[in-house]
Amino acid sequence: MIYLDYSATTPVSRKVLEEDALFHQRSFANCNSIHALGKAALEEVDKATNTILDKLNLKDYSITYTSGATESNNLALKGIAYINKEQGKHIITTAFEHGSIVSCLNYLANQGFEIDIVDIDDQGQVDLRHLQSLITDQTILVSIGAVNSELGIIQDLKKIKDITSQYPNITFHSDMTQAVGKIKTDFSVVDLLSFSGHKIYGFKGIGALIHRKNIDLRPLIHGGKSLSKYRGGTPPTSLIYSLAIALEDIYKNFEEKEEKVKKLNLYLRNQLKTIKNVFINSPMNALANILNFSLISSTSHQVQKYLSDKEIYVSTTSACSSNQGFSRVVKVLTKDDLRSQSSIRVSISHLSEKTEIDALINALEAYDESC
Ligand code: PLP
Repeated sequence: MIYLDYSATTPVSRKVLEEDALFHQRSFANCNSIHALGKAALEEVDKATNTILDKLNLKDYSITYTSGATESNNLALKGIAYINKEQGKHIITTAFEHGSIVSCLNYLANQGFEIDIVDIDDQGQVDLRHLQSLITDQTILVSIGAVNSELGIIQDLKKIKDITSQYPNITFHSDMTQAVGKIKTDFSVVDLLSFSGHKIYGFKGIGALIHRKNIDLRPLIHGGKSLSKYRGGTPPTSLIYSLAIALEDIYKNFEEKEEKVKKLNLYLRNQLKTIKNVFINSPMNALANILNFSLISSTSHQVQKYLSDKEIYVSTTSACSSNQGFSRVVKVLTKDDLRSQSSIRVSISHLSEKTEIDALINALEAYDESC
Protein backbone atom coordinates (compact mmCIF):
# COMPACT_ATOMS: atom_id res chain seq x y z
CA MET A 1 0.00 0.00 0.00
CA ILE A 2 1.33 3.41 -0.98
CA TYR A 3 -0.41 6.32 0.71
CA LEU A 4 0.15 9.67 -0.97
CA ASP A 5 -2.93 11.48 0.29
CA TYR A 6 -1.69 13.06 3.53
CA SER A 7 -3.57 16.31 2.87
CA ALA A 8 -6.86 14.41 2.99
CA THR A 9 -5.95 12.93 6.34
CA THR A 10 -2.99 11.53 8.23
CA PRO A 11 -2.55 8.32 10.21
CA VAL A 12 -2.68 8.85 13.98
CA SER A 13 0.87 8.94 15.32
CA ARG A 14 2.09 6.36 17.81
CA LYS A 15 2.83 9.16 20.28
CA VAL A 16 -0.78 10.40 20.13
CA LEU A 17 -2.14 6.85 20.51
CA GLU A 18 0.07 6.12 23.52
CA GLU A 19 -0.62 9.43 25.26
CA ASP A 20 -4.34 9.05 24.58
CA ALA A 21 -4.41 5.64 26.30
CA LEU A 22 -2.63 7.11 29.33
CA PHE A 23 -4.99 10.08 29.44
CA HIS A 24 -8.06 7.81 29.57
CA GLN A 25 -6.51 5.90 32.47
CA ARG A 26 -5.92 9.01 34.55
CA SER A 27 -8.72 11.40 33.59
CA PHE A 28 -12.31 10.74 32.57
CA ALA A 29 -14.21 13.42 34.51
CA ASN A 30 -16.29 16.13 32.92
CA CYS A 31 -14.14 19.26 32.94
CA ASN A 32 -17.31 21.32 33.50
CA SER A 33 -17.83 19.54 36.88
CA ILE A 34 -16.79 21.64 39.84
CA HIS A 35 -15.60 18.75 42.06
CA ALA A 36 -11.94 17.87 42.41
CA LEU A 37 -11.94 15.31 39.57
CA GLY A 38 -13.59 17.81 37.26
CA LYS A 39 -11.08 20.45 38.25
CA ALA A 40 -8.23 18.04 37.52
CA ALA A 41 -9.69 17.40 34.05
CA LEU A 42 -10.01 21.14 33.51
CA GLU A 43 -6.35 21.55 34.44
CA GLU A 44 -5.42 18.98 31.77
CA VAL A 45 -7.45 20.88 29.19
CA ASP A 46 -6.03 24.26 30.22
CA LYS A 47 -2.53 22.82 29.93
CA ALA A 48 -3.33 21.52 26.45
CA THR A 49 -4.70 24.95 25.45
CA ASN A 50 -1.54 26.64 26.70
CA THR A 51 0.61 24.16 24.78
CA ILE A 52 -1.29 24.86 21.54
CA LEU A 53 -1.16 28.65 21.94
CA ASP A 54 2.48 28.42 22.92
CA LYS A 55 3.45 26.24 19.94
CA LEU A 56 1.74 28.60 17.53
CA ASN A 57 3.11 31.60 19.40
CA LEU A 58 -0.34 33.10 19.92
CA LYS A 59 -0.56 35.33 22.96
CA ASP A 60 -3.86 37.10 23.68
CA TYR A 61 -5.83 34.39 21.88
CA SER A 62 -8.41 31.88 23.13
CA ILE A 63 -9.46 28.55 21.67
CA THR A 64 -12.92 27.21 20.96
CA TYR A 65 -12.56 23.48 20.35
CA THR A 66 -14.73 22.11 17.57
CA SER A 67 -15.30 18.83 15.74
CA GLY A 68 -12.86 19.82 12.97
CA ALA A 69 -11.95 22.57 10.56
CA THR A 70 -15.35 22.53 8.83
CA GLU A 71 -17.03 23.46 12.08
CA SER A 72 -14.29 25.97 12.92
CA ASN A 73 -14.82 27.66 9.56
CA ASN A 74 -18.59 27.72 10.10
CA LEU A 75 -18.18 29.24 13.56
CA ALA A 76 -15.73 31.84 12.29
CA LEU A 77 -17.73 32.96 9.27
CA LYS A 78 -21.27 32.75 10.63
CA GLY A 79 -20.15 33.83 14.10
CA ILE A 80 -18.50 37.00 12.80
CA ALA A 81 -21.14 37.71 10.15
CA TYR A 82 -24.11 37.49 12.50
CA ILE A 83 -22.60 39.44 15.36
CA ASN A 84 -21.44 42.28 13.11
CA LYS A 85 -24.35 42.45 10.68
CA GLU A 86 -25.48 45.87 11.92
CA GLN A 87 -22.07 47.28 10.91
CA GLY A 88 -22.15 45.79 7.43
CA LYS A 89 -22.85 42.66 5.43
CA HIS A 90 -19.92 42.55 3.05
CA ILE A 91 -17.42 39.66 3.06
CA ILE A 92 -14.34 39.15 0.87
CA THR A 93 -12.77 35.78 0.07
CA THR A 94 -10.91 33.97 -2.75
CA ALA A 95 -11.87 31.36 -5.33
CA PHE A 96 -9.28 29.06 -3.71
CA GLU A 97 -11.11 28.30 -0.51
CA HIS A 98 -12.01 24.86 0.75
CA GLY A 99 -15.58 23.61 0.22
CA SER A 100 -16.42 24.25 3.87
CA ILE A 101 -15.77 27.98 3.35
CA VAL A 102 -17.52 28.07 -0.03
CA SER A 103 -20.68 26.35 1.28
CA CYS A 104 -20.78 28.51 4.35
CA LEU A 105 -20.44 31.72 2.33
CA ASN A 106 -23.11 30.53 -0.13
CA TYR A 107 -25.37 30.06 2.88
CA LEU A 108 -24.58 33.56 4.14
CA ALA A 109 -25.22 34.97 0.65
CA ASN A 110 -28.73 33.46 0.87
CA GLN A 111 -29.12 35.22 4.21
CA GLY A 112 -28.47 38.61 2.58
CA PHE A 113 -24.70 38.92 2.95
CA GLU A 114 -22.75 40.13 -0.07
CA ILE A 115 -19.71 38.03 -0.98
CA ASP A 116 -16.90 39.29 -3.22
CA ILE A 117 -14.13 37.12 -4.66
CA VAL A 118 -10.74 38.79 -4.88
CA ASP A 119 -8.69 38.18 -8.04
CA ILE A 120 -5.55 36.08 -7.99
CA ASP A 121 -2.51 36.41 -10.25
CA ASP A 122 -1.02 33.70 -12.49
CA GLN A 123 0.92 32.27 -9.52
CA GLY A 124 -2.25 32.05 -7.45
CA GLN A 125 -1.40 34.98 -5.18
CA VAL A 126 -4.13 37.35 -4.00
CA ASP A 127 -4.16 40.56 -6.05
CA LEU A 128 -3.62 43.10 -3.26
CA ARG A 129 -4.72 46.09 -5.31
CA HIS A 130 -7.97 44.34 -6.13
CA LEU A 131 -8.43 43.44 -2.49
CA GLN A 132 -7.98 47.08 -1.51
CA SER A 133 -10.45 48.17 -4.17
CA LEU A 134 -13.14 45.73 -2.97
CA ILE A 135 -13.17 47.03 0.60
CA THR A 136 -16.12 49.30 1.47
CA ASP A 137 -17.45 50.75 4.73
CA GLN A 138 -19.75 47.68 4.78
CA THR A 139 -16.89 45.14 4.80
CA ILE A 140 -16.83 43.17 8.05
CA LEU A 141 -14.86 40.06 7.20
CA VAL A 142 -11.99 38.90 5.00
CA SER A 143 -11.45 35.13 4.90
CA ILE A 144 -8.42 33.86 3.00
CA GLY A 145 -6.87 30.42 3.45
CA ALA A 146 -3.16 30.26 4.28
CA VAL A 147 -2.42 27.22 2.09
CA ASN A 148 -4.72 25.99 -0.66
CA SER A 149 -5.54 22.32 -0.13
CA GLU A 150 -5.38 21.25 -3.78
CA LEU A 151 -2.41 23.15 -5.16
CA GLY A 152 -0.47 23.98 -2.01
CA ILE A 153 -0.29 27.69 -2.90
CA ILE A 154 0.82 29.69 0.14
CA GLN A 155 -0.69 33.16 0.54
CA ASP A 156 1.26 36.06 2.00
CA LEU A 157 -1.09 36.74 4.91
CA LYS A 158 1.13 39.50 6.28
CA LYS A 159 0.59 41.61 3.15
CA ILE A 160 -3.15 40.97 3.36
CA LYS A 161 -3.17 41.95 7.03
CA ASP A 162 -1.33 45.19 6.20
CA ILE A 163 -4.42 46.10 4.17
CA THR A 164 -7.23 44.74 6.38
CA SER A 165 -5.74 46.21 9.56
CA GLN A 166 -6.30 49.71 8.17
CA TYR A 167 -10.04 49.11 8.65
CA PRO A 168 -11.19 48.66 12.26
CA ASN A 169 -14.49 47.02 11.19
CA ILE A 170 -12.76 44.20 9.33
CA THR A 171 -12.04 40.88 11.01
CA PHE A 172 -9.41 38.76 9.25
CA HIS A 173 -9.95 34.99 9.30
CA SER A 174 -7.76 32.31 7.76
CA ASP A 175 -8.42 28.63 7.21
CA MET A 176 -5.02 27.27 8.27
CA THR A 177 -5.92 23.60 8.05
CA GLN A 178 -3.20 22.85 5.48
CA ALA A 179 -0.71 25.24 7.09
CA VAL A 180 -0.61 24.26 10.76
CA GLY A 181 2.08 21.64 11.28
CA LYS A 182 3.47 22.18 7.78
CA ILE A 183 4.81 25.70 7.92
CA LYS A 184 6.30 27.89 10.59
CA THR A 185 4.92 31.36 10.20
CA ASP A 186 3.55 34.28 12.17
CA PHE A 187 0.10 32.85 12.87
CA SER A 188 -0.83 36.03 14.75
CA VAL A 189 -1.30 38.03 11.54
CA VAL A 190 -4.94 36.91 11.59
CA ASP A 191 -7.74 37.51 14.08
CA LEU A 192 -9.11 33.99 13.83
CA LEU A 193 -7.69 30.75 12.46
CA SER A 194 -9.13 27.30 11.90
CA PHE A 195 -7.39 23.93 11.88
CA SER A 196 -8.01 20.26 12.44
CA GLY A 197 -6.44 17.38 14.39
CA HIS A 198 -6.63 14.74 11.68
CA LYS A 199 -4.34 16.66 9.31
CA ILE A 200 -1.51 16.62 11.86
CA TYR A 201 -1.43 12.94 12.87
CA GLY A 202 -4.11 13.44 15.52
CA PHE A 203 -7.64 12.14 15.76
CA LYS A 204 -10.61 12.88 13.53
CA GLY A 205 -13.36 14.70 15.39
CA ILE A 206 -11.30 17.47 16.96
CA GLY A 207 -10.44 20.88 15.58
CA ALA A 208 -9.94 24.38 16.86
CA LEU A 209 -10.96 27.91 16.14
CA ILE A 210 -8.35 30.17 17.68
CA HIS A 211 -9.54 33.74 18.12
CA ARG A 212 -8.20 36.96 19.54
CA LYS A 213 -9.51 37.48 23.05
CA ASN A 214 -11.18 40.76 22.07
CA ILE A 215 -13.21 39.16 19.26
CA ASP A 216 -16.89 38.40 19.76
CA LEU A 217 -18.75 35.63 17.91
CA ARG A 218 -22.33 34.43 17.67
CA PRO A 219 -22.25 30.76 18.82
CA LEU A 220 -23.50 28.01 16.53
CA ILE A 221 -24.14 25.52 19.34
CA HIS A 222 -25.89 26.91 22.38
CA GLY A 223 -25.64 25.13 25.70
CA GLY A 224 -24.82 25.48 29.35
CA LYS A 225 -21.63 27.07 30.63
CA SER A 226 -18.66 25.33 29.04
CA LEU A 227 -15.00 25.83 28.23
CA SER A 228 -15.83 28.37 25.53
CA LYS A 229 -18.89 30.59 25.53
CA TYR A 230 -19.06 30.02 21.77
CA ARG A 231 -19.76 26.27 21.91
CA GLY A 232 -21.98 24.47 24.39
CA GLY A 233 -21.64 20.81 25.35
CA THR A 234 -19.23 18.70 27.37
CA PRO A 235 -15.73 19.34 26.02
CA PRO A 236 -14.02 16.25 24.56
CA THR A 237 -11.16 16.34 27.06
CA SER A 238 -9.13 13.45 25.64
CA LEU A 239 -9.42 14.79 22.09
CA ILE A 240 -8.31 18.23 23.23
CA TYR A 241 -5.37 16.68 25.04
CA SER A 242 -4.51 14.64 21.93
CA LEU A 243 -4.64 17.74 19.73
CA ALA A 244 -1.96 19.40 21.86
CA ILE A 245 0.19 16.24 21.75
CA ALA A 246 -0.19 16.02 17.96
CA LEU A 247 0.76 19.66 17.48
CA GLU A 248 3.75 19.43 19.79
CA ASP A 249 4.90 16.26 18.04
CA ILE A 250 4.56 17.54 14.48
CA TYR A 251 6.73 20.58 15.26
CA LYS A 252 9.43 18.38 16.81
CA ASN A 253 12.48 18.11 14.46
CA PHE A 254 10.43 20.23 12.08
CA GLU A 255 13.30 21.43 9.88
CA GLU A 256 14.44 17.84 9.27
CA LYS A 257 10.91 16.77 8.30
CA GLU A 258 10.47 19.81 6.06
CA GLU A 259 13.79 19.17 4.32
CA LYS A 260 12.82 15.56 3.57
CA VAL A 261 9.44 16.60 2.14
CA LYS A 262 11.08 19.30 -0.01
CA LYS A 263 13.56 16.80 -1.46
CA LEU A 264 10.78 14.30 -2.24
CA ASN A 265 8.69 17.03 -3.84
CA LEU A 266 11.56 18.05 -6.12
CA TYR A 267 12.23 14.44 -7.06
CA LEU A 268 8.54 13.87 -7.84
CA ARG A 269 8.39 17.09 -9.87
CA ASN A 270 11.40 16.10 -11.97
CA GLN A 271 10.13 12.57 -12.54
CA LEU A 272 6.66 13.81 -13.54
CA LYS A 273 8.24 16.06 -16.16
CA THR A 274 9.49 12.95 -17.98
CA ILE A 275 5.91 11.72 -18.59
CA LYS A 276 4.57 12.91 -21.94
CA ASN A 277 1.06 14.05 -21.09
CA VAL A 278 1.74 15.51 -17.65
CA PHE A 279 1.32 19.20 -16.81
CA ILE A 280 2.33 20.33 -13.35
CA ASN A 281 -0.23 22.66 -11.78
CA SER A 282 1.35 23.53 -8.42
CA PRO A 283 3.72 26.51 -8.69
CA MET A 284 7.37 25.93 -7.70
CA ASN A 285 6.95 27.91 -4.46
CA ALA A 286 3.86 25.98 -3.31
CA LEU A 287 3.91 23.99 -0.09
CA ALA A 288 6.18 20.99 -0.69
CA ASN A 289 3.65 18.60 0.87
CA ILE A 290 1.25 19.08 -2.06
CA LEU A 291 1.97 18.51 -5.73
CA ASN A 292 -0.88 18.82 -8.20
CA PHE A 293 -0.53 17.75 -11.83
CA SER A 294 -2.76 16.82 -14.76
CA LEU A 295 -2.37 13.75 -16.92
CA ILE A 296 -4.35 15.19 -19.81
CA SER A 297 -4.68 11.90 -21.73
CA SER A 298 -7.26 10.81 -19.15
CA THR A 299 -9.72 12.04 -16.53
CA SER A 300 -8.84 12.46 -12.86
CA HIS A 301 -11.21 9.72 -11.81
CA GLN A 302 -9.82 7.21 -14.32
CA VAL A 303 -6.26 7.85 -13.16
CA GLN A 304 -7.25 7.74 -9.50
CA LYS A 305 -9.09 4.44 -9.99
CA TYR A 306 -6.19 2.94 -11.93
CA LEU A 307 -3.76 3.91 -9.16
CA SER A 308 -6.15 2.78 -6.44
CA ASP A 309 -6.38 -0.67 -8.09
CA LYS A 310 -2.61 -0.80 -7.72
CA GLU A 311 -2.95 0.25 -4.06
CA ILE A 312 -1.51 3.70 -4.68
CA TYR A 313 -3.72 6.29 -3.04
CA VAL A 314 -3.92 9.90 -4.27
CA SER A 315 -6.70 12.49 -4.55
CA THR A 316 -8.42 14.13 -7.48
CA THR A 317 -9.45 17.30 -5.66
CA SER A 318 -9.74 17.80 -1.91
CA ALA A 319 -11.42 14.80 -0.28
CA CYS A 320 -14.62 16.81 0.36
CA SER A 321 -15.15 17.75 -3.33
CA SER A 322 -13.88 14.53 -4.86
CA ASN A 323 -17.17 13.62 -6.58
CA GLN A 324 -17.16 16.68 -8.81
CA GLY A 325 -15.11 15.28 -11.73
CA PHE A 326 -13.15 18.51 -12.15
CA SER A 327 -11.16 20.83 -9.95
CA ARG A 328 -12.59 24.35 -9.69
CA VAL A 329 -9.30 25.46 -8.13
CA VAL A 330 -7.12 24.12 -10.97
CA LYS A 331 -9.59 25.74 -13.41
CA VAL A 332 -9.20 29.12 -11.67
CA LEU A 333 -5.39 28.93 -11.79
CA THR A 334 -4.82 27.38 -15.23
CA LYS A 335 -8.06 28.53 -16.95
CA ASP A 336 -7.86 25.15 -18.72
CA ASP A 337 -10.81 22.72 -18.73
CA LEU A 338 -8.72 19.73 -19.73
CA ARG A 339 -6.25 20.28 -16.90
CA SER A 340 -9.01 20.80 -14.37
CA GLN A 341 -10.74 17.57 -15.46
CA SER A 342 -7.55 15.53 -15.26
CA SER A 343 -5.91 16.91 -12.14
CA ILE A 344 -4.39 14.72 -9.48
CA ARG A 345 -3.24 15.83 -6.04
CA VAL A 346 -0.33 13.94 -4.57
CA SER A 347 0.26 14.87 -0.96
CA ILE A 348 3.37 13.66 0.78
CA SER A 349 4.67 13.65 4.31
CA HIS A 350 7.88 13.16 6.23
CA LEU A 351 6.72 9.53 6.42
CA SER A 352 6.86 9.21 2.60
CA GLU A 353 9.75 7.45 0.86
CA LYS A 354 11.49 7.80 -2.50
CA THR A 355 10.53 4.20 -3.38
CA GLU A 356 6.87 5.21 -3.10
CA ILE A 357 7.40 8.08 -5.53
CA ASP A 358 9.16 5.66 -7.90
CA ALA A 359 6.21 3.26 -7.75
CA LEU A 360 3.81 6.12 -8.53
CA ILE A 361 5.92 7.29 -11.47
CA ASN A 362 6.25 3.76 -12.89
CA ALA A 363 2.49 3.29 -12.68
CA LEU A 364 1.78 6.66 -14.33
CA GLU A 365 4.28 6.00 -17.13
CA ALA A 366 2.68 2.64 -17.87
CA TYR A 367 -0.77 4.21 -17.80
CA ASP A 368 0.18 7.10 -20.10
CA GLU A 369 1.77 4.72 -22.62
CA SER A 370 -1.37 2.54 -22.66
CA CYS A 371 -3.68 5.52 -23.42
N1 PLP B 1 -10.09 23.40 5.23
C1 PLP B 1 -9.12 22.86 4.49
C2 PLP B 1 -8.12 23.76 3.81
C3 PLP B 1 -9.04 21.47 4.35
O1 PLP B 1 -8.06 20.95 3.60
C4 PLP B 1 -9.99 20.66 5.00
C5 PLP B 1 -9.98 19.19 4.83
O2 PLP B 1 -9.76 18.69 3.76
C6 PLP B 1 -10.99 21.28 5.77
C7 PLP B 1 -11.00 22.66 5.86
C8 PLP B 1 -12.02 20.48 6.50
O3 PLP B 1 -11.43 19.88 7.61
P1 PLP B 1 -12.22 18.83 8.54
O4 PLP B 1 -12.15 17.53 7.81
O5 PLP B 1 -11.46 18.82 9.81
O6 PLP B 1 -13.60 19.33 8.72
